[in-house]
Amino acid sequence: MSQTPPVSQSRHPRATFSAGPQRQAIALILVHNDPALEFQREEASGSRVYVNQISEALAKLGWQVDVFTRKTNPDDPTIVQHSPHHRTIRLVAGPQEFIPRDRLLEHMPAFVEAFRKFQTKDGFHYPLVHTHYWLAGWVGLQLKQESNIQLVHTYHSLAAVKYAGMAQKPLVADHRMAVERHTLVGANCIVATSPQEQETLRELVATPGNVQVIPGGTDLDVFHQMSRSDARAQLGLSPSENVVLHVGRFDPRKGIETLVRACAQIKQMDTLAGEPLRLLLVGAADDAESLAERDRIQSLVAELGLNAVTEFVGQVGHDRLPLYYTAADVCVVPSQFEPFGLVALEAMACGTPVVASDVGGLKFAVVPEETGLLVAPQDVDGFAGAIARILSDDLWAHRLRRQASLRVQQNFSWSAVAARLSDLYRRLLAQSLTGDLLSVPMAPTTAAALSSLPAEPLE
Ligand code: UDP
Repeated sequence: MSQTPPVSQSRHPRATFSAGPQRQAIALILVHNDPALEFQREEASGSRVYVNQISEALAKLGWQVDVFTRKTNPDDPTIVQHSPHHRTIRLVAGPQEFIPRDRLLEHMPAFVEAFRKFQTKDGFHYPLVHTHYWLAGWVGLQLKQESNIQLVHTYHSLAAVKYAGMAQKPLVADHRMAVERHTLVGANCIVATSPQEQETLRELVATPGNVQVIPGGTDLDVFHQMSRSDARAQLGLSPSENVVLHVGRFDPRKGIETLVRACAQIKQMDTLAGEPLRLLLVGAADDAESLAERDRIQSLVAELGLNAVTEFVGQVGHDRLPLYYTAADVCVVPSQFEPFGLVALEAMACGTPVVASDVGGLKFAVVPEETGLLVAPQDVDGFAGAIARILSDDLWAHRLRRQASLRVQQNFSWSAVAARLSDLYRRLLAQSLTGDLLSVPMAPTTAAALSSLPAEPLE
């Protein structure tokens, strides 16, 4: 496929921002995770799911959506056309091979250069760029310094939280924190995925900056209530088992250790009336860090005598994941922090109660006593007690299931998320045309803070 720049009838695309018959092209950037790669070749992360879902939904709302990512294999096509107005464009920035995200910063100037070349080939200019995760945020800041774009950023994960209390921070930690601070101040708008993420940004990153809260969503066509007995039969699980589920990457911050320790306690309790416990751990371990964490969890499972009840399922695609959520009695999200936590929503959409850490976006997704329970992170006793409460009270669990599914149906669809993003983009583009600062309020200190951005890319 050729590298034709996005369709625009105008050489002055900022003058045609309407998503009407002449589609306005916008760029989404997710550097470290290729949204177009087939499922088994790429890590299942929240940012990838988010970008895939909103880009398709935005295209349906009338935008031309171009998603830019880094090319990791010379055999992959440069452009993948997902639907008539949604495509992924792979830019060459550094060796065309997998590079762990913590070692990607040095290749970001090349990414900026490749983006610049792509869009200027025909004198084209994306007037709005929505970046995802800090590496793309860095790219967005460079683009904003040199051209008139509206920069929107979503963090998906925050260094200030990730590295808090960590004795040995990786080399990239300080750069990442600086970039995340600059992005908060320099972007035209930050999209936080929960009010809790907004608070965290204010507390731990910076006070200036325009932050709008637009919660994440879930695909209701994929994640919805189904027959639990069918799901169990398909997965070879017995109807009498107490199935506890975790879905997510093997990352120490996901708190899987807390869940395993809690399950060891539950096994000792007499609340399960002799019915067997089953712990399912769904998720990938495909880089050195996550393989090390999976090995650590496997040792812990053995040490606590849980080998016979624990299954390391591996990565499961969204085609089969609803079966796991549906089959489970409870889905546990024991993360130390989650800006949003898509897994909690997916489980709830399938009618599965969620026991989650009382942090970040999980506080927003889960309504305690109505759709699940919230527990202090790393509180093994608390998690054991909460999980056991749900497992031992069928009537209440039934009510939780119904309410969980209703909450997601009523509040969290990707099409609703895209509609709110679309409205935000329109207002930002209108503001850039008219200079109307009232429509999207900017923090008064933004201009001053922008001028303190490093002139050169951060090394
Ligand atoms: N996921 C998946 N298969 C797996 C594990 C995870 O599809 O084996 C998906 C999961 O359904 C969710 C995303 O990966 O959509 C994880 O998002 P979340 O926000 O919970 O965590 P993050 O990866 O952003 O920390």
